[in-house]
Amino acid sequence: MENTKPLGFLFSEDRILLPEREERFREKLVELFEKKRREEETFWHYGGKYGDCGLFWGEIPPSSENMAEESMHFVNLRDAATLYGYSCFSLATKITHLRHWQKRTRFCGACGTPTIPLKKEEHARTCPQCGNIFYPQISPAVIVRIEKKGSILLARNARFPATMRSLIAGFVDPGESLEDAVRREIREEVGISVKDITYYDSQPWPFPDSLMVGFTAQWKEGEILVDNDEILEAGWFSPEELPELPRSGSIAYKMIQQWILQNKPS
Ligand SMILES: [Zn+2]
Repeated sequence: MENTKPLGFLFSEDRILLPEREERFREKLVELFEKKRREEETFWHYGGKYGDCGLFWGEIPPSSENMAEESMHFVNLRDAATLYGYSCFSLATKITHLRHWQKRTRFCGACGTPTIPLKKEEHARTCPQCGNIFYPQISPAVIVRIEKKGSILLARNARFPATMRSLIAGFVDPGESLEDAVRREIREEVGISVKDITYYDSQPWPFPDSLMVGFTAQWKEGEILVDNDEILEAGWFSPEELPELPRSGSIAYKMIQQWILQNKPS
């Protein structure tokens, strides 16, 4: 820890203080770390290591947000996905995930004793009473772009704004492979079956601890029949008649935009 650059991330509830510009991003966070440490030695919680940086997080009440540092601002992490490039967003993602984990493993889940860090610079906490060890949990979720003869399946999730449509997604159940989860989610939410399930890409998605694993699949058979629970509407869309789509920064955005580029009439 002594040889690493300490980066300070300040949270106000679920909002994180980040430099307004990407240039000097890390330097600004080092300055913030030093400044807060001068004010209060015990302010920061050690979050873990990231390359040659030590990550620290601290919290302030929302009432103090207006005392934010010059050229920095509090942002919702979902907004950070659209505002920053990969390296900045992945730093914010990592510290947000680790903070969430540390806050939820303060006590042993088996015996209730306060936990302590297992080793310096390791992402693990242990129970001094019963020896349980707690690692950060990652919840895998699948997201799938279903294609059918030049059109794409887009659905309205009950949690989305009324006009927005996106890809089918859902958490992996215990005992499932990623491909099993893709088939089940599609069957449950829109009632069709698919073939040619192919890995696309993945993205850490700290809301609060997911890893989104993207796939493409081809329609095989069945008519769309939504579950009316998670999915309220779904349909096939061609590149010329697309509805409102997810914002940039998410893997859904990337997957849909790539499909549009490949299928746009020339
Ligand atoms: Zn215990």
